[in-house]
Amino acid sequence: RIAYVNGRYVPHSQAMVHVEDRGYQFSDGIYEVTGVYKGRPIDAEGHWERLERSLRELSIAMPMSRRALDFVASQVVRRNRVVTGIVYIQVTRGVWPRNHPFPPKVTPPALVMTARNGLGPGQAVAERGVSVYSQPDIRWGRRDIKTVSLLPNVLAKEKAHHEGGFEALLVASDGTVTECASSNAWIITRDGVLVTRALSNDILPGITRARLRELALGMGMQIEERSFTLDEAKAAREVFISSTGSFALPVVRIDETVIGNGVPGTLTLGLRARYLEFLESLSGP
Ligand code: PMP
Repeated sequence: RIAYVNGRYVPHSQAMVHVEDRGYQFSDGIYEVTGVYKGRPIDAEGHWERLERSLRELSIAMPMSRRALDFVASQVVRRNRVVTGIVYIQVTRGVWPRNHPFPPKVTPPALVMTARNGLGPGQAVAERGVSVYSQPDIRWGRRDIKTVSLLPNVLAKEKAHHEGGFEALLVASDGTVTECASSNAWIITRDGVLVTRALSNDILPGITRARLRELALGMGMQIEERSFTLDEAKAAREVFISSTGSFALPVVRIDETVIGNGVPGTLTLGLRARYLEFLESLSGP
């Protein structure tokens, strides 16, 4: 395997960053995970857009132009023979002797990219559905920025996995669901309306969320972008989660509560099928 590290393509086993990289010391950096489907990037524009926004919000410079980022991404895909998998992109504020304030403006941001085959849980898991476990959302106030500071997400996901669940369903102190540890959360009401939390500082603006929203509208489905409570989710007709790797993934249990009749819902599976069609229609790199 090959990784890109600050201007060089190096063997994955020798891909290193400096101990005083601010990403390592302060989680002072951001990342993206872009999907690759049958050799084609999934929604690359959306991911570069979000990467630029995350950097701008943290006053970290773009490490290179978007076109150059696109080129490096295509190189790590090619050099790792990725067919269907992911590209991981991380940008930190660079290397400087440890001190909280920003280093001098001339300090270049550090850029790392890796790629590997393997994209999400697959169709067999989707046809069974997954369970999720609710937990308090203890993250900071700028969840819209895709920072590498993921400790609350890691702890929540670990707990969910320990319980035998696929994801952690994160609940704010007012009882509303924000999102999951690494996915956005959706419910479908008894009336067949898709509900997902509106974009704000409370959640990450998922690229898959945006794509599914567009596809669902195109299918004539009704969407409400609003908050919903954990109780509302447990009583919903269908529940699903979305992310780069899981697409639209049916949830059949929240904690000890079975959703619907315990099998993936028809509306969710219909939307997932539409997303798979979209993936098949992607044009080449
Ligand atoms: N929320 C969080 C907290 C995430 O980490 C992710 C995965 N990056 C998502 C939502 C889903 O975003 P996307 O559809 O862009 O993968």
